[in-house]
Amino acid sequence: MNVVNDTSCSWINDLDIRSNIKTLDNDKSCDWLIVGAGYTGLSAARKLSELHPNQKIIIIDAQLAGEGASGRNSGYLVDTTLNDGFTSNKELSNYRKKTNIYKLGIDVVKKFIKEHQVDCDWNESGKYFASSNQKDRKILQNFSETLSKLNFDHSILEKEDLGKRLGTNFYNLALYTKGGVLLHPGKLVRGMVDTLPDNVELLENSQLNEWSKNNDTIICKFNNHKIITKKIIFCTNGFLKSLGIKNNYNFPLTLTASMTRSLTDIEYKSIGEPKEWGVLPIRPMGATVRMTKDKRILIRNTAEVYTPFQMTDNELKKRSIYQRIGIKKRFPSLPEDIVQSSWSGVVARTRNSSQIFEKIDNNIFAAGCYNGSGIGLGTLFGEQIAIKASNKESNEINIIENGIKPTLFPPRLLLNVGVKIRLFYERYRAKTEI
Ligand SMILES: Cc1cc2nc3c(=O)[nH]c(=O)nc-3n(C[C@H](O)[C@H](O)[C@H](O)COP(=O)(O)OP(=O)(O)OC[C@H]3O[C@@H](n4cnc5c(N)ncnc54)[C@H](O)[C@@H]3O)c2cc1C
Repeated sequence: MNVVNDTSCSWINDLDIRSNIKTLDNDKSCDWLIVGAGYTGLSAARKLSELHPNQKIIIIDAQLAGEGASGRNSGYLVDTTLNDGFTSNKELSNYRKKTNIYKLGIDVVKKFIKEHQVDCDWNESGKYFASSNQKDRKILQNFSETLSKLNFDHSILEKEDLGKRLGTNFYNLALYTKGGVLLHPGKLVRGMVDTLPDNVELLENSQLNEWSKNNDTIICKFNNHKIITKKIIFCTNGFLKSLGIKNNYNFPLTLTASMTRSLTDIEYKSIGEPKEWGVLPIRPMGATVRMTKDKRILIRNTAEVYTPFQMTDNELKKRSIYQRIGIKKRFPSLPEDIVQSSWSGVVARTRNSSQIFEKIDNNIFAAGCYNGSGIGLGTLFGEQIAIKASNKESNEINIIENGIKPTLFPPRLLLNVGVKIRLFYERYRAKTEI
C-alpha cells in the first residue's frame, strides 16, 4: 500500500496551496494518535482537543490533510439515500434509524461551518434521484412511500419539468427531496484543517506502515520514525482494512470522477441557465451528476474493487472516457473537450451498508465505512468516537450504536469474487444511467 498526493482533482486545485506542512522527522510519543486526516480524523482531533486541553494529541496522514476522499467527493451532504434496500416495515425502522443519523451529520457540519465561518459554497438546494429509464418508476414510487411515512418533503417530477430545472433532456423521471445540501468538499475539509486547535499537532506525508500493541502502549512505525501512543483512533476509512482494522467486515472501493471547466455564458445559455443542482442515481452503479455553483459539471460514474490504491494515469484515463460519454449523453450540445480534470478516490463499504464505530481493543478505536454519506457521517463519527474513546457518553453515541451493525464477510476469495460479480451485475442494470 502506498498513499500518495496527486494534482488531478479540480476541487483540490481550487484551494490555495498550503505552506505549513510538517512531516514526522523524529520519534515521538503522545497521549492520543489519530491516523487519517479527513473529515473523521479532523473532527476527532477537534473534539479531543476540547476534552483534553492538556494532553498531547497528534493527527497524522500519509498524504496532505484532507486530500483523500474528503477533498475529492461529489459534495452531497445527504439527509436520505436510496440505494440501501428497504421494502418491509422492519427495514422501514432501519431506514428511520439511518436517516436519524444523517440528520445528526448535517447538524454537526452546519454547526462547524457556522462556528468557524467556513465558506464551502453551502447550498440547501435539495437533490434529485433521477433516471432516464421508465422502469425505475416503481422504485421511485416505493421510495416516495417510505419518505412520506417518515415525513420527508419530496415530489416526483417528470421529463419536461426536469429538462427546465436541470438543462438536460436525459432524465425521464426523478424524485426530488427538499432536504440535503450541496457543497464544495475541498473547501469544507480545508476549513477543518485551517481551524485545527493549537494543542493538536498535524503531521502530513507520513504513512503508518505497521502498528502493534505492547501492554499499555501502541507502537506505530512510519518510514524512518515511530510514534508511541497511549491511545489511537483509526480514521483511515478506505484504508482501514489495509491497516488490519475490522478485516472481515469492510472492503475498499475505488471511485472515479471528472469535472468540466466552467461553462461559458453562451454554453450556459444554450442549456437554459439552470440553477445549481445535484442528481443521484436510482440504481447503485448509475452516475452522480452535479451542476456546480460556478457552472461546472461533475460526473462520478465508476466504483470498483481496485488495487493498488492509487490508480495509474493510464487506468484513470480509461475510466474518464466513461465520464466524457456520460456528459455527452446528458449535454450533447456542449463541446467534447470541456473536461478539465479526472480523479480517483477510495471509500470503504461494509456488507450491509452499515458503519464502523467501535472500540477495537483497549485504547484502540476506529470509525469509518460511510459509503456515499461520509461528509456528514465522517464529521459526526469523528467527533463521537473521540467522546467514546474518552470514556464519555452522548445522546449521539446512543443513536449511532442503536443503528445496524456490520455483518461478517465470507472468506476472502469468495468475497472478492462475490463483490466483483455484484458490481458487474449492478453496472449492467444501470447501463443506461452511466
Ligand atoms: C469520488 C467520490 C465521491 C463521493 N461522493 C460523496 C458525496 O457526495 N457525499 C458524501 O457524503 N460522501 C461522498 N463520498 C465519500 C466520502 O468522501 C467519504 O466517506 C469521506 O471522505 C470519508 O472521510 P474520512 O475522513 O473517513 O476518510 P478520508 O477522507 O478517506 O481520509 C482518510 C485519510 O487516511 C489517510 N490514510 C490512509 N492510510 C493511511 C496510513 N497508513 N497512514 C496514514 N494515513 C493514512 C488517507 O491519506 C486519507 O487522507 C465520495 C467519495 C468519493 C471518492
